[in-house]
Amino acid sequence: MPKTSWAVVVHGGCKPMKKSEADPNREGLNDALAEAVAILSSGGSALDAVEAAVRAMEEDPTFNAGRGSKTNAEGEVETDASIMAGDTLELGAVCALKDTLHPVTVARALMPETETLLAGEGAYRFAEARGLARRGVGKTLAAEGAGTTTVGCVALDVEGRLAAATSTGGTGGSKPGRVGDSPLPGLGLYANKVAALSATGQGESIARAMLGARCIIAIENGQEPQAAVEHALTYLEGLPPHSGLIAMDAHGRIGWGHTGDQMALGWASAEAPDFRVELSGIEEAEDG
Ligand code: ASP
Repeated sequence: MPKTSWAVVVHGGCKPMKKSEADPNREGLNDALAEAVAILSSGGSALDAVEAAVRAMEEDPTFNAGRGSKTNAEGEVETDASIMAGDTLELGAVCALKDTLHPVTVARALMPETETLLAGEGAYRFAEARGLARRGVGKTLAAEGAGTTTVGCVALDVEGRLAAATSTGGTGGSKPGRVGDSPLPGLGLYANKVAALSATGQGESIARAMLGARCIIAIENGQEPQAAVEHALTYLEGLPPHSGLIAMDAHGRIGWGHTGDQMALGWASAEAPDFRVELSGIEEAEDG
C-alpha cells in the first residue's frame, strides 16, 4: 500500500459557549491534538490516534464527555461513545453507560467482539469486567460535570487508514436511558476506506436527518469533504439547531460545519503540523 501523509481533526462539540469558555476549549483541543499527532507522526495507527485524542478530552472537565459529562434528569451521568476503523469497518459502541471515565476505551474494547453496541447495564458489566468501570465513579463525574460540549476525532494515518471516534455525556437533563446519535454509525460517527466523520449537536435532529450517512455517501459520490458536510447539514433545516460535523477523506482533505451558533475544533497534518484551533462563532458569544 502506498504511504500517505497523516492528518487529524478534533472537535469539542457544537453548543453555545461563553467567551470565558474559549481558553479552556482551546487548551483542551490543543492537548487532544498533541496526543493524536504524537501517534500519527511516529507512524502509529489512526485508530490509536482517535482513541487517544478522545480520551484526552474525556479527562478534561471542559468537555461534555467522561469527566465533564452532563447529568440526566435524575442527576446521573450516562455516556455514549463509539469508535470505528475505516480499513476493516470494525466498530465498537456503548450507550447509556454509567460509572466509567473513558467510554471511548470501553467502545474500543468491544471492537473484536461479536456485538458492536452494548447499552446500559450490559455495557457497564462489560466495562467492569475489563477493569474500565467501577460502581460509584459516576457520582464523582456528576459532581465534576457540566462540560459544555461533546467531543470527537477523525484521523488518517501514514498507512492510509481512516478512523473516527465520538464521546458524549448527552444533552443533559434528559430522561434516563436516552441515547443520542454519538454511538450510532451513520449518525454520530462513521469510517470506511473513503472517509471518516464525527458529529455533534442535537442527537434527535441528527437522527432525523441521517446526518453522518448523508455526508459519507456524498464523499463516496465524489464530493470533497467540505462540500459533503455542507450538503449533509442542509438536511437539518427546520430541525432544532446546534449540530455540526467534521469529516476527512482518504487524501486527508477535511471539511467541517455547523448549524448552531458555535463549534470548537482543531486540526493538524503532516504538511501543516502546526495545530490550528478554531472556535467558530465564539466572537458572537456573551461575556461571562
Ligand atoms: N450529540 C450528542 C447527543 O445528542 C450531544 C452533543 O453533541 O452535544 O447526545
